[in-house]
Amino acid sequence: MKIAIVGAGVAGSSVLRTLIEESPETMIDRIDVFDYRKETSRGLPYQEDDPTLLLNISPDRISVYSDKSKDFVDWLKDKNLEDARQEGMVQRRHYGRYLHERFESYFNHVKVHFQQSKVIDMLIFNDKEEPAYQDSDSEKFYRLKLEDESWTTFYDAVFFTIGHPPYADYYTLAEHPSFIRHPYPLSKKLGDIKNDQKLGVVGSGASSFDILRYFKRHFDVDYALPLYIPTTPFTPTHIEVDEEPKRSCINDEWIEENRHPETGRILLADIWEQVKYDLTEYGVDWSSVLAQFSTGDLSESIRQYYNRPRGLGVIQEYLSSLSQHLADLYNALSMKDRQDYDTFYRPQVEHFRHSIPHETMGRVIDSLKKDELRIVPGLSDIQWDETNQVFDIYIDGRYHESCDILVNGTGFEFRLKQAGEFNLLIHNLYQKGYIIPADNESRQGVAVTWPECQLINRKFGQLDHVYLMGLFIHLTQYGNNNARLNMEQGRRSAKHLIDRYQTHYSVH
Ligand SMILES: Cc1cc2nc3c(=O)[nH]c(=O)nc-3n(C[C@H](O)[C@H](O)[C@H](O)COP(=O)(O)OP(=O)(O)OC[C@H]3O[C@@H](n4cnc5c(N)ncnc54)[C@H](O)[C@@H]3O)c2cc1C
Repeated sequence: MKIAIVGAGVAGSSVLRTLIEESPETMIDRIDVFDYRKETSRGLPYQEDDPTLLLNISPDRISVYSDKSKDFVDWLKDKNLEDARQEGMVQRRHYGRYLHERFESYFNHVKVHFQQSKVIDMLIFNDKEEPAYQDSDSEKFYRLKLEDESWTTFYDAVFFTIGHPPYADYYTLAEHPSFIRHPYPLSKKLGDIKNDQKLGVVGSGASSFDILRYFKRHFDVDYALPLYIPTTPFTPTHIEVDEEPKRSCINDEWIEENRHPETGRILLADIWEQVKYDLTEYGVDWSSVLAQFSTGDLSESIRQYYNRPRGLGVIQEYLSSLSQHLADLYNALSMKDRQDYDTFYRPQVEHFRHSIPHETMGRVIDSLKKDELRIVPGLSDIQWDETNQVFDIYIDGRYHESCDILVNGTGFEFRLKQAGEFNLLIHNLYQKGYIIPADNESRQGVAVTWPECQLINRKFGQLDHVYLMGLFIHLTQYGNNNARLNMEQGRRSAKHLIDRYQTHYSVH
């Protein structure tokens, strides 16, 4: 088999490792890995950048080995980096170096060829090497187009492990040079901004806190950095519970036991009963925590910082332990249950699943007190003022203030058509009908099978041996925005290809 992996981040590296370690000797002729970044395995989040960029997860939870959970912690000790924590967290670039080191041998394997190049398109062929326009019984082969307009050889399988959708442009400012739509690497994008240029940030998510940390370290100014946000919710503060881990009883066995024997479905009511039961065992009532902390405004997060409410901490820890099963649970629901979940439960679960690390919240409060930071809610519009060469900020429909440079911290563009405006590969795959939205109404996400993650479309049905992973499939692989889950999915999809090969081989 000739196999292509497009994207050499965490997911792509995990695909590569699984193919090399777990495939039979005869299966692989060649693996071509494409990434436009030079350094393999680090991807966008863990690329070389400013030391102020921090991991949002404890280092003992993102080892590259499932049976050696302390491997990254030990690596940090070996490199004498264990003490170099900020706000209790490890620098993201250190994790990038670790990933690069641990996966490097797979990229050096004799059958593996890494090419630093951007993939911009794909074509599908039948077994006579003619272009295939629709499904047929014939086996399919795939060719990729690279940025220099050249076409690759024919592949039997393609893994698109391309990471995150592009950063969104909600106020259509992308064309403007003073608007930093894609903020990473921060050291490059913000490095040339002068102290007399007034900076503003749109959004209050994880990227905005990266920007705040960078701003505090590198800018010597007498104004408070403004974070413009439309409305609540503000992310809750993470509360550490100093007790035995509060894990969910829902695991792989629970999932299999609770499936309907004929349909494989799991009832939302059964899942929710189990969640409430587990939490009651831990002395926590979901409804009362929700009643106290569901507004999601800044003052609520500040109160959580000072009061450290146990109930919130238990729920955060519990949901974190459940994260790895969310996609299997969600995909086992009936359509009606899925709608109910999306309408009633998902907003609550998502609110509690995301949190700002406790020490980071402390820094935010400190910055607010020292007048280094302002959180400005009610953002309704942003306009470029050509005469004065500034961005005008409108709060609740009225002009509020202006800034010279605006940094985007609003998150990702999941709508495929709009994402295609910033990503040529997505544009071309979407225009050809090779990828279609996972959700028809919102036109968001890429439709894939679960749990294999092969592309689904109207022309071919399931596109055999073409896999796509990462945040683009967040509507199917619910809850997948962390390194561990992307690594695990890489392994799962690669394993699927190996199983398919073995079945085919044993039949023929
Ligand atoms: C800013 C940021 C910070 C984050 N911090 C954390 C964190 O602290 N902890 C955590 O667990 N998760 C974090 N995440 C979540 C993140 O989704 C995962 O940790 C993980 O990195 C995703 O892995 P991936 O392989 O899907 O994507 P990536 O690691 O981004 O890898 C995708 C790769 O594909 C390449 N690529 C994309 N398109 C093409 C193309 N057309 N041709 C060739 N190559 C291409 C890219 O260059 C990139 O190297 C963060 C995400 C972001 C955006």
